[in-house]
Amino acid sequence: LRFDLAQFELAAAMLPQLPPSSDAEIVFSGRSNVGKSSLINKLCNRKALARVSNTPGKTATINFYQLPGAHLVDLPGYGYAKVSQGEKRRWANLIEGYFESGRRIALVIQLIDMRHPPTADDLGMLQYLAHSDFRFIVALTKSDKLKPMQRKKRMEEIEQELSMIEGVAYVPFSSLNGEGAAEVRDWISKAVEE
Ligand code: GDP
Repeated sequence: LRFDLAQFELAAAMLPQLPPSSDAEIVFSGRSNVGKSSLINKLCNRKALARVSNTPGKTATINFYQLPGAHLVDLPGYGYAKVSQGEKRRWANLIEGYFESGRRIALVIQLIDMRHPPTADDLGMLQYLAHSDFRFIVALTKSDKLKPMQRKKRMEEIEQELSMIEGVAYVPFSSLNGEGAAEVRDWISKAVEE
């Protein structure tokens, strides 16, 4: 897959704005500030394809990026405390509607901050994915922030924390030093080819 040719296509704030489902879709999901924009930029070798934001929770749109033969789909980051109940409901309807509208979803990449236990929202998302038919992997973000001993400890803890999704691949990922980028690209290419 030519990740370097990725281009922004559109931002959907409402279900009717979703583009027609044609190419295979690769979906990125995670709480705001987990490093989702940075991961997408790293995969595509771009500085500002997806916006890296220091004011999390502002964009509640599903953003589509087109590459030859596939779409990258950036779900709005969840779990931002300052968002109103109404906005949270709108977000939930948008995500649920997206997943349940029969699109060609080839792979979901669920991002979890490697340094911390998953949040209730993370676990909810993982439960949803585990009970769905979607293929998914977990990217453990900001791996560069852990020293070797901390990392070893976290990996053991994560094993326990995510025990309900046995058999799902974890990929430690750093948008700073590029760890995991090649592996995530491989998972994506494999999923799109099948
Ligand atoms: P998003 O809200 O999930 O799209 O997260 P962003 O990509 O905007 O990143 C949120 C913050 O985390 C920014 O300050 C990034 O610079 C930082 N960040 C993202 N990924 C990494 C990483 O792999 N390593 C480190 N050290 N910082 C990261």
